[in-house]
Amino acid sequence: MRTAAFPFRAIPHALFSLFFPADCRICNTPLGRWTRVPVCASCIAAPAPLEAEYFCSLCRTPFLNPHPLDQHGVCAACRSGLLGFDRATSFGFYEGHLRGLIHLFKYAGMRPLAHPLAQLLERALPVDEAYDVVVPVPLHWKKKWQRGFNQAELLARHLAKRRRLPLLKALRRRKSTEAQATQSIAGRRRNVAGAFMAQPGVPLAGKRVLLIDDVMTTGATASACAAALKRGGAKSVSLLTLARVDRRPGTN
Ligand SMILES: [Zn+2]
Ligand SMILES: [Zn+2]
Repeated sequence: MRTAAFPFRAIPHALFSLFFPADCRICNTPLGRWTRVPVCASCIAAPAPLEAEYFCSLCRTPFLNPHPLDQHGVCAACRSGLLGFDRATSFGFYEGHLRGLIHLFKYAGMRPLAHPLAQLLERALPVDEAYDVVVPVPLHWKKKWQRGFNQAELLARHLAKRRRLPLLKALRRRKSTEAQATQSIAGRRRNVAGAFMAQPGVPLAGKRVLLIDDVMTTGATASACAAALKRGGAKSVSLLTLARVDRRPGTN
């Protein structure tokens, strides 16, 4: 009988290690079974939903006390109409296991993580809202080319399939907005204002859009996307992200 090991010789090492990983890439526990993702089951199950005592009822920004919220539970940014979207929801804070998983997905190119991460998105989806289309936040073409994929688009694709909603690549990123992390909120807003436009010919008129991104920091990117979608005719834009940066003083 021919040796059963033969086919494995033809598998490149990178692929082999993807299917037969040694250790979990987050907690370093040896993995005992075949998996498409080198992360153990408990690390995948670990991310906890976002918890905070006080939230804005629209953008879900967490606060340390109720003072920034008005009698309707709405924060100053939402009251001033600063945020282009109508509502924002995130699964968890951008920390711990969730942050680790997003990093592996985004920067280590572990595309199969899109599936479990999209399940977290689905868990966070507001039950009292209806949507007509799912739209991913686009990457600038250069970044997409470097990374090989748009993480928001993979997440949106999974979610759209699960919810039987059409996926609409309705936005285009006109300029690259690098190094956002180091900028102030006002700087980030200036930087992304006008960075997005609705794709010509995409049917957005009257649509209730579910906008998908992986991480929300200040909301400036999503806000600029929402403004572009509304210029394109969208009726409402609800943002759903996997994680949001906790910007409360003393929490980071
Ligand atoms: Zn693990
Ligand atoms: Zn708010």
